Amino acid sequence: MNCPLCNSNDTGKVGTNQYYCWNCLVEFSVQGAGAYTAYYVDEEGTLIALSDLVQKSGTLAENFLG
Ligand SMILES: [Zn+2]
Repeated sequence: MNCPLCNSNDTGKVGTNQYYCWNCLVEFSVQGAGAYTAYYVDEEGTLIALSDLVQKSGTLAENFLG
């Protein structure tokens, strides 16, 4: 499974259709071909959808999305 954000294969499966990218430190869930939701995991382990981050801070999300 390659990370949909950075295309790295340095990912680990963390659940059903859920993966964690060790390169961009983002968890993502795959909904189907080409469809995914990416989450930033904060220091408390809380998952924050990157779409939420975009709304809160465009600059931060841009950093994550490269
Ligand atoms: Zn990645």
